[in-house]
Amino acid sequence: MNSMEQLEENLRLADESATPLTDEELAATDKVRALLKAKGDIPCTECGQCSCPKGVNIPDCFAVYNANRAFNVIHISQLNYGMALKGTGHEAEVCDGCGRCANQCPQGLNIPLQLRKVARRFAHVRCGW
Ligand code: SF4
Ligand code: SF4
Repeated sequence: MNSMEQLEENLRLADESATPLTDEELAATDKVRALLKAKGDIPCTECGQCSCPKGVNIPDCFAVYNANRAFNVIHISQLNYGMALKGTGHEAEVCDGCGRCANQCPQGLNIPLQLRKVARRFAHVRCGW
């Protein structure tokens, strides 16, 4: 898209082709959302609007935590955390609670508080599993 006209045309086409969810589908979506919330899910949308000067990969930390909590795929999520995050300088343990990411999250997440949960959950995971 190189111009406002192209953007507007794309938005119009997207509007016309979108099929609205039925009431049953909307109810199912609400049910799944409630179930995930009850399991202690961190409602991060991985929008990437937060940034950490220390290098913590905030959305990846939350995504791995959520996979671990929601689906109980303990070994896979621990493996992911160990391989992709632990010891790389991007893991939750690097967060020192400085608060620079405060107010960056459109979901209103208290990022340092949630990162502490992630760090606790994966405290026993070794680097490069
Ligand atoms: S509170 Fe943690 S995640 Fe947020 S900017 Fe500071 S070190 Fe980074
Ligand atoms: S800004 Fe919030 S929702 Fe977006 S990636 Fe960061 S923590 Fe997740």
